[in-house]
Amino acid sequence: MKIITTIEEMQSYSAELRANGKFVGFVPTMGALHDGHLSLIRESAANNDVTVVSIFVNPTQFGANEDLDKYPRTLERDTELSRSAGADIIFAPSADEMYPPNSATFVNVESLTQGLCGKSRPTHFRGVTTVVAKLFNIVQPHRAYFGQKDAQQLAVISKMVADLNIPTEIIPCPIVRENDGLAMSSRNVYLSPAEREQATILYEALTAAQTLIAEGERNAEAVKERLTSILNTANLGIIDYVEIVDFHTLQPTATIKPPTLIALAVKFGNTRLIDNVIINKH
Ligand code: AMP
Repeated sequence: MKIITTIEEMQSYSAELRANGKFVGFVPTMGALHDGHLSLIRESAANNDVTVVSIFVNPTQFGANEDLDKYPRTLERDTELSRSAGADIIFAPSADEMYPPNSATFVNVESLTQGLCGKSRPTHFRGVTTVVAKLFNIVQPHRAYFGQKDAQQLAVISKMVADLNIPTEIIPCPIVRENDGLAMSSRNVYLSPAEREQATILYEALTAAQTLIAEGERNAEAVKERLTSILNTANLGIIDYVEIVDFHTLQPTATIKPPTLIALAVKFGNTRLIDNVIINKH
């Protein structure tokens, strides 16, 4: 297992791998790894010669009042977990290495970033696309693996890659959940025991929405009402949004017409959790 911390070394190492005909798979993360991340690493390891995992808590994707300072940092444990899931290289740069004081360039996907999480986190996606574009230039991967847990992020990155002709294939990976249905997230550790217990309502509500659609409901407003009423039974959670959108455009849809993304964000205390399901067929 190789740990690289400088851009120069990562770029030259990757260039050498590519020159030797190796396929490079890449899993960008902010660390505090859990089974969701590890499923991405396993998928990459199974389909590429070399898997690079980046561990970088990216300051530009956090808003002023968000959890940048308290975000969990567990590099040693993450390195071991990545190795056991089949990673070959950890790229763990410092914030100064990634953003020297004179950096002045951002990558901004203008469509797809306004709604859903973009409403309450207006600078978030600009930070994500900027860091992912930089990481792609540094790691030069053939394929990069992203979780559907962050469905809007996946759509935004796919758009960036298409618009900027980046020669990296984006591979979406399914959401990994705890036994009780809660989507795994590095932020789940912030939840108090009572909040953790109530947080299962997110997937319960999404599952109820799925069932309603399977039973024939096509009216998005009716599905949204059902979802919202279930979420409102969690007295510790405050809804940020519940949205039913076309999965390609991320624009709200009145009628359920696959592929449809049902996405939500709920705050438990200071912890904002997101989850979603994608309706691919009726
Ligand atoms: P993060 O460390 O939160 O930036 O996430 C890094 C990658 O792991 C992103 O592509 C996420 O979508 C993905 N990821 C996070 N949680 C999960 C999960 N529960 N299941 C699948 N992928 C996930």
